[in-house]
Amino acid sequence: MQKTILGLLASLAACGAVQSAEVTTAMLNSDAKDTKSVLSFGMGTEGQRYSPLTQVNTKTVAGLVPAWSFSFGGEKQRGQESQPLIHNGKMFVTASYSRIFAVDLKTGAKLWKYEHRLPDGIMPCCDVVNRGAALYGNLVIFGTLDAQLVALDQDTGKVVWKEKVDDYAAGYSMTAAPLIANGTLLTGVSGGEFGVVGRVEARNPMTGELLWMRPTVEGHMGYRYDKDGKEIANGVTGTVNKSWPGELWKTGGASTWMGGTYDASTGLAYFGTGNPAPWNSHLRPGDNLYSSSTVALDVKTGQIKWAYQNTPNDSWDFDGANEFVTFDMNGRRYGGKADRNGFFYVIDARDGKLQNAFPFVRKITWASSIDLKTGRPNFVAANRPSDPTKGNGDGKKGSTVFAAPAFLGAKNQMPMAYSPQTGLFYVPANEWGMDIWNEPISYKKGGAFLGAGFTIKPLFDDYIGALRAVDPKTGKIVWEAKNNAPLWGGVMTTAGGLVFYGTPEGYLKALDAKTGKELWKFQTGSGVVAPPVTWEDGGVQYVAVVSGWGGAVPLWGGEVAKKVNFLEQGGSVWVFKLATKI
Ligand code: CA
Repeated sequence: MQKTILGLLASLAACGAVQSAEVTTAMLNSDAKDTKSVLSFGMGTEGQRYSPLTQVNTKTVAGLVPAWSFSFGGEKQRGQESQPLIHNGKMFVTASYSRIFAVDLKTGAKLWKYEHRLPDGIMPCCDVVNRGAALYGNLVIFGTLDAQLVALDQDTGKVVWKEKVDDYAAGYSMTAAPLIANGTLLTGVSGGEFGVVGRVEARNPMTGELLWMRPTVEGHMGYRYDKDGKEIANGVTGTVNKSWPGELWKTGGASTWMGGTYDASTGLAYFGTGNPAPWNSHLRPGDNLYSSSTVALDVKTGQIKWAYQNTPNDSWDFDGANEFVTFDMNGRRYGGKADRNGFFYVIDARDGKLQNAFPFVRKITWASSIDLKTGRPNFVAANRPSDPTKGNGDGKKGSTVFAAPAFLGAKNQMPMAYSPQTGLFYVPANEWGMDIWNEPISYKKGGAFLGAGFTIKPLFDDYIGALRAVDPKTGKIVWEAKNNAPLWGGVMTTAGGLVFYGTPEGYLKALDAKTGKELWKFQTGSGVVAPPVTWEDGGVQYVAVVSGWGGAVPLWGGEVAKKVNFLEQGGSVWVFKLATKI
């Protein structure tokens, strides 16, 4: 009987009679090619943020006008770093303070909203942001600032399941969009500034049931679970600690706060990991695996198949959390990563072997280059902030060094894009440096675990941000578009030969993907710190972006924060299409 019904459904689906509203693995695996929806963060789990749509192109983009705008409302503004999802006539968009809205795609009218009840005492390091949701089945799933996962019915906004991931009072929070990889929900955690332990967790997206978890700090073991939540005896993965001194691995950071990407052709999920804790590197001699790295995980078991460490024994808060974007080059599958430390890495997506590494910013002080044979950086020893307990000082403060990039990174949370049409990555980069020094510190639950002080400074008078077209084959910067304020929004590229990105000054801009020439811009009314998306509905191409200034720069930006303190907060999503003649 069951077989017959399934057979009938399959044949109906095959002849196109049933257009399912349920999001399936097959739909997610073809998300990058299907122009009618945007089902995942990254516009495809590979994270290329490339659309094959061409209606809006280098010739027509000047005619792009607003179709509608939707306000997140309330008194809660601050940073809006969210990427909308598009499916089944609805937009799903998250907002600051762990809110999510469903909006009618045609009219911009609100269908439902969910405001997560946040406790006092949440500890987001870098503003009350959320970067987006995930879709699976009839559910929309997102993480909250008190480290919970919430799954809601796409049609009604009713909570279907809710899971506590960890203790917010210990510094855990969630800001990244969850990832669905081969039917499994994968999430990371935020909190590297509070000595949390980074990890990747896999759940059944329909129930929230935990399938496996894999910490990203060496010494902590990963486990698989049966359907009663018990550890599976032969399911342990991990190695004993070899790269941390003493007990420091227990509070080692390496938070997986940006989430991950997934490539169905390799079966691997790629998660970036944050800084080792604390920042003062003299307290933890050694490589401090797997901090400031990319880890590639087997989605079925949680086993780390390979790891590449961008910044061993990091001393500058160079989180390696940046996205690993897979792409084809010379007949192989590689991943590109524009690291916070200033180098762009090209790595074999299957085995983790380093193919190339080159700077994508003008000034890097901590290393002179990356050794392509060993994969290790050539450190400039004099530019590491010193040990406060050594030398002639009072033991409370080490020497101050000027370091570039600043800890907010040559690139931070704002995702880059890759165009198979041009073969270029479009990287939202920032040029800044910092005075940094070390201080003594010991771990205290819920306290900042840094052991460092710092002041961020601009490097150049006329710009901080620069959108750069990077050739992964040659390491050349093909063109750049400078921006006065630091770039903090993501990038999208299209087969229409365009690159879209937002600026803190409030503009969504479209540039020629080949030359970088500016072809269109629109003032959204507040700073754009979120990545744009595009889709097609009824023969019309739409472009959307969230607007709302905030994020880490106003909170941590030192002298740069003073430079941009005139920018106003906001909270809205804008949708554009080409003007039609009446
Ligand atoms: Ca960090």
